[in-house]
Order: sequence, then structure tokens, then C-alpha cells
Amino acid sequence: MSHIANLTAPNGINYTQPLGLFIDNEWVASKKEDRIISINPADESEICSEEAAGSEDVDIAVNAARRAFDGKWREMDTSFRGDLLHKLATLVEQHADVLATIDAWDNGKTYNAARNEDVPDSVAILKYYAGWADKIHGTVIEPNPSRMAYTSREPIGVCGAIIPWNFPLVNIVTKLGPALAAGNTLVVKVAEQTPLSALYFANLVKEAGFPRGVVNVLNGMGREAGTAIAAHPGIDMISFTGSTPTGREILKTAAVNMKRVILETGGKSPLIVFKDADLEQAVRWGHRGIMSNQGQVCSATSRIFVHEDVYDRFLALYKDEVQKVSQVGDPFKEDTFQGPQVSKAQFDRVSSYIDTGKREGAKLLCGGEACKNMSGKGLYIAPTVFTDVSDSMTISRDEVFGPFVVISKFNEEKEAIKRANDSVFGLGAAVFTRDISRALSVSKKIESGTVWINSSNDSDGRVPFGGFKQSGIGLELGELGLAAYTISKSVFINLNSKL
Ligand code: ADP
Ligand code: MG
Repeated sequence: MSHIANLTAPNGINYTQPLGLFIDNEWVASKKEDRIISINPADESEICSEEAAGSEDVDIAVNAARRAFDGKWREMDTSFRGDLLHKLATLVEQHADVLATIDAWDNGKTYNAARNEDVPDSVAILKYYAGWADKIHGTVIEPNPSRMAYTSREPIGVCGAIIPWNFPLVNIVTKLGPALAAGNTLVVKVAEQTPLSALYFANLVKEAGFPRGVVNVLNGMGREAGTAIAAHPGIDMISFTGSTPTGREILKTAAVNMKRVILETGGKSPLIVFKDADLEQAVRWGHRGIMSNQGQVCSATSRIFVHEDVYDRFLALYKDEVQKVSQVGDPFKEDTFQGPQVSKAQFDRVSSYIDTGKREGAKLLCGGEACKNMSGKGLYIAPTVFTDVSDSMTISRDEVFGPFVVISKFNEEKEAIKRANDSVFGLGAAVFTRDISRALSVSKKIESGTVWINSSNDSDGRVPFGGFKQSGIGLELGELGLAAYTISKSVFINLNSKL
């Protein structure tokens, strides 16, 4: 079987798609002779099939990453490491149309979102960490006249990265950028639902000039390749983004050799609208905050709490906004806001929560059903809004991960905070008010890694991102996201050399 395919995407773009495992800068076949079929969720047609890594392939990739770590990569001038990351950023920019096309095709996200958000965000993250590569250093500490110590920030070693399917490209560079800037090497397992853009990206890694073995990219199933990475004794650190149950499993598996672990997991993020808020803006953000990316965003503001005095007006405006903005359809069509869910499994999951909401007696403001494209195919869900929900309902507690939001009313500020915090998750939270003191004091009391004041789901590669509670361990992005990929070594110097 060949490791490349010449493909023509639905938008007419013709390109060469790698299909193999990327190990040691080469495209190779899987030792277990297994393949994964990629599906276009817009019509459930087959795109192509790729090599699927098993534990033996993971082992080969880890050895390649170890050789690279112990070899040239370690000895490389740090500025040169930054140059390579810059080159990679430039290549991603040059290949933006193809990368966006692949993600729209494979994931079902709109081409516009992929081209205008995912790709530029990825470029910005790579450039940001490229700039850090030669600015990583320790400190000098002088406890008393006879002793001094210095610290150095060293790379951790071979890092495993396990990537989800919701932002295929952004997720890979979020881990690759800081890992490489800090001097680590990588074995990446991409999500089996959306491997194609990462495989294409791997060719750009090679073209940028990274030495062999520094970056290895494997497509494979979570249970096989993912577990093999989490368990591998030759991997020193693991960075995972995905669901909370999978994160918990990885944490347990990674305990074998006490890997450093970063987990970015689920959420059920609240958005609170106080009665003094700019209601129209709250509605617009409240809509984008959950309906963007087909609702497949870990920090989506999926629980909306509205002050009772403005509740009815909020609902009326929210319904208008959904009808006006949430155009569901072909990801490649210019005016589409929402494409299909990524996979049949996700489609079924969201559908079953819709049934649960109805069974639990929540009121349906709009949506509440699947919708098909013109040919009667595709994994489309109508944007679904349940109102008058209670906090104990399953649909108020579980992460749905779809275009699915629950809205309820509150009376007191204290009550809103308590209910917002009543979740096992703590990823994001949004607060809408014109009162600055209230905005800041509520932000202080909210148990989440990020708070947005008068917006929702703002993110930036320069700002750290991570979860409180069961939304994760550790941070990504920003300077703290870089620190996670280094380990500090302390060296003591005895200045008087006598015991
Ligand atoms: P989803 O259920 O939506 O696919 P997951 O959190 O399970 O979300 O998947 C995120 C990533 O974790 C994917 O790359 C997936 O293959 C991987 N994965 C899934 N299960 C495991 C596991 N048990 N060990 C390691 N990785 C896994
Ligand atoms: Mg797919």
C-alpha cells in the first residue's frame, strides 16, 4: 500500500495526502498492518485510509525520539531551534488553504473557521514559541557567603502528545511549539477521527529541517497507540487533551514510570448574565460561546444563567440569534456557520442528550433534532436550546460537546456564583455586567482556569490555559505552558570548599 494519495477535496483543491506513520522523518507502514478509514462527516463518504499504529510502532517511534534527544537536537544552538520553529510557522502559513481544506473535509468544521481561525492561531502559537527557544534560562541564588547555587531549565526528554479531534491543527502545535522550544522530542498520537491535517503538517516539519526523530506523528486508536504512549517507560512526559474519563485513564496508566502529566480535559462552563449587562452583546457571545465549532469546544459556555429580570428578553433575543446566525450546512459553503458533528459517535451522543433533556422535562426553545443536508445525508444536529432547566438535570451536569445549551434564571449574585461553581469541571466562565467591581469580585469567586469578562472563549497563545477541578492538571500556552516542558535543575557550589 502506498503512503500517499492524490486527493481532490469537495472544494476542488487537489493535494497530496500522506497516509503512513511519520517516524524518524520517514513515512512507514504500521507493523500491525492495520488501517483507519477517514470519513467526511458532511455525507459520511470515505476520504481515504491511513496506517494505524500499534504498540510496536509506538516503541519504534519512542526509540527514534530518544536517539534524536540524545543526539543533534540536544546539542543544537537554541536560536537555531527557534529558527526551525519560525520556518515551520511560515510553511503552515504558505499551506494555509490546503490545511484548512483538510480540516473542513475531515472534521466537518467550516472552511471559514479553519482558514480564518485554526490556521492563523496555529501560526501565531508556533511563532510565539519560536521566540522563546533562546530565552529559556535559570537563576542564580546566593543563600550565604560560602554557598551559591544556580538553576537551569532543562528539557524533560521524550514527550508523548495525545491530541483530540476538535481542533486538529491548533492542538498539535499547542503541544509541539513549547515542547520543541524547550528542547524535548515528541511522539504525537493524533485523533483517529481527524488525522489528515496532522499528517500533512508532518511533511512540513520535515521540510522545515527538523532533524530526524525530533517529531514523530502517529495515527492510531486511543486504546492501542494512545495506551501504548501513556504506558511507555521511554516516554518522560505526557500531554493530553480530550475527555475527562480518558484523561483519568491516562493519568493512571502514566503512573507506571511517574511521567510528568498535563491534562486538558472537559468542561461545563457557565456564562452569567447580570441584569445590568449589555444584553445584545451577552446574547451574541452566549451564542458564539457554545455554538462555534459545532459546540465541540472543551471550554464552551454550555450553561447560561440569566438574571430573572432580563430572562424573558434574553430568551427571545437568543432564539432570534440562533435563527439568524446558526446556518447549518455544507462546511465549504460561504454562509455556513455550523457544519456536521465530527463522527457518528458524537452525533449519537448529542442526540441521546437531546432525548434526555426532553425526558427530564426541560423546555425546548429551539432545535432538538437531527437535521440532514439536502441529499438527506450527514451528521448534522440542529442548534438546541433547553430553557427552564434545573441544576440537577443530567443535561445541566454532563458535558454534551455539541450545539447544545441549557439556560436558567437566577435572582441573587451569590446564588449565581454558587450554581456556576456547582460542577465537577472548572475550565472557563463568562460574566456579563457593566459593573467593574462586580465583574472582578465574581471572577475572583469563580472556580475556573479562565474567566471572560463580557466575552466568551477568548483565547490567545500568549495567555495560559488550563482547568481547575476535573478540567485538568497543569497549563498550556503562554510562558507557563512552556515551563511545563522544562525541568529545573539546581547546582550548589561550595565557595570555601571546606566541610
Ligand atoms: P473522544 O471520546 O471524543 O474521542 P477522547 O478523550 O477519548 O475523546 O480522545 C482524545 C484522544 O485520546 C484521542 O487521540 C484518542 O485516540 C485518545 N485516547 C482515547 N482513549 C485513550 C486511552 N485509553 N489511552 C490513551 N489515549 C486515548
Ligand atoms: Mg473524519
